[in-house]
Amino acid sequence: MPPSHPFDFDAVDADKLHEECGVFGVVGVSDAANFVALGLHALQHRGQEAGGIVTYAPEHGFSSARKFGYVRDTFTSQSVMETLPGSLGIGHVRYSTSGSKGPTQIRDVQPFFGEFSMGGAAIAHNGNITNAEALRRELIERGSIFQSSSDSECIIHLMARSLQRDIPSRMEDALRRVEGAFSVVAMTRTKLIGVRDPLGVRPLVLGRLGDGWVLSSETCALDIIGAEFVREIEPGEMVVITPDGKIESLRPFRPQRARFCIFEHVYFSRPDSIIGGRSVYETRRQIGVELAREAPVEADLVCPVPDSGTPAAIGFSQESGVPYAMGIVRNQYMGRTFIEPTEQIRNMGVRLKLNVNRALIRGKRVILVDDSVVRGTTSRKIKEMILDAGAAEVHFRIASPPTSWPCFYGVDTPQREKLLAATMSEEEMRQHLNVDSLRFISLDGLYRAVGESQGRNSECPQYCDACFSGEYPVEPSDQIEKGFQLKAAE
Ligand code: SF4
Repeated sequence: MPPSHPFDFDAVDADKLHEECGVFGVVGVSDAANFVALGLHALQHRGQEAGGIVTYAPEHGFSSARKFGYVRDTFTSQSVMETLPGSLGIGHVRYSTSGSKGPTQIRDVQPFFGEFSMGGAAIAHNGNITNAEALRRELIERGSIFQSSSDSECIIHLMARSLQRDIPSRMEDALRRVEGAFSVVAMTRTKLIGVRDPLGVRPLVLGRLGDGWVLSSETCALDIIGAEFVREIEPGEMVVITPDGKIESLRPFRPQRARFCIFEHVYFSRPDSIIGGRSVYETRRQIGVELAREAPVEADLVCPVPDSGTPAAIGFSQESGVPYAMGIVRNQYMGRTFIEPTEQIRNMGVRLKLNVNRALIRGKRVILVDDSVVRGTTSRKIKEMILDAGAAEVHFRIASPPTSWPCFYGVDTPQREKLLAATMSEEEMRQHLNVDSLRFISLDGLYRAVGESQGRNSECPQYCDACFSGEYPVEPSDQIEKGFQLKAAE
């Protein structure tokens, strides 16, 4: 069982969408586990609940460790790292729960491992398989025994049923049956394998570290280990890398137009990562520029909701000429804690994590820039804090369009009816938040900010934007079976 947290001071981040996983792998470097642990540490923003590492050394075979908690707390002790020898390794950080709803079990923590007649293989998956429940039923009927409740385990069982003679070919067979979003990092005794789904919804990049190779969800994790960014794994591509540095690039899927997750640009990826040749920080700053053009307002200060609203607030300030200021300060050291909370402490909520810079705010007309509004609970509290501090006016500017549909591609989203924008118009949301004005960037404005100068191509959208548009690039078949209603055709 994961450790219990009597009070979660990360509550301020609970009103956000959360990426569910990050993946990382290296081959051809000594002490692979140390590099994997550092890579996972840099990807911790993609999943904080648990992490796992698998390595292979000829004299020891496969070794694995799976732990609850932050990488810095679990994969730094010598006693753990000594159990992970070898020059080939993969790892995974997990947010939660396409597996067991509720508390994660250690058996749900990846990488998953399978023993086949031609040797073992471990896999780590970022994304979500949209036909996992149907596949699972089929596999169980045909005799598979599942160890976890994670959708990713289907891949191992599909590989076990393949008649191909080598593991990469079995993985190709398995992934052709899988629908949805997947960036997979896998390993055999001799190979590191990376695969992206045909739409390339979730990211995966290739890096070079001396004579070795690295696969990672984001480039920021290459930087931490001093690896050089080589290229992105392309949508629908599978790379098979040997320890002597040979890379085979395969195309196991029917080609489709790429639909990368546009929310990676807005929020999920780290601002120091590069996506599609663009700096994530620069894209977010540009979102602020577009937002200032679309929704100007007279004010005295532009303040970010830290930390994720910061680049957009800088862009908004630069474009509008309204001075930028740190009107809200985040307590960086207020993580999860085991303090037993009293009701009084519980009621402090957001105030424990964010504090208003009262001297700056008093009497000012304030523009607050945030990356998104999900349930709206945190936005309301922040507005109250700003008004309590004596602000004359509060204007919200949001660096993404209204989030009115759930994501089924590897992001933890509330049910549709819990999304504020699913049940309210923009004006109703303004009244609900009780602010002087509320504006979201338009979908076209967001597309311009990510480099699509003509905006969104409505016939053939360049990105996945389903959580804003309701247009799902891969039908969420498991969800439809459970009663989820797709958007009616216009
Ligand atoms: S639905 Fe939204 S969060 Fe999910 S993959 Fe698409 S753009 Fe990203």
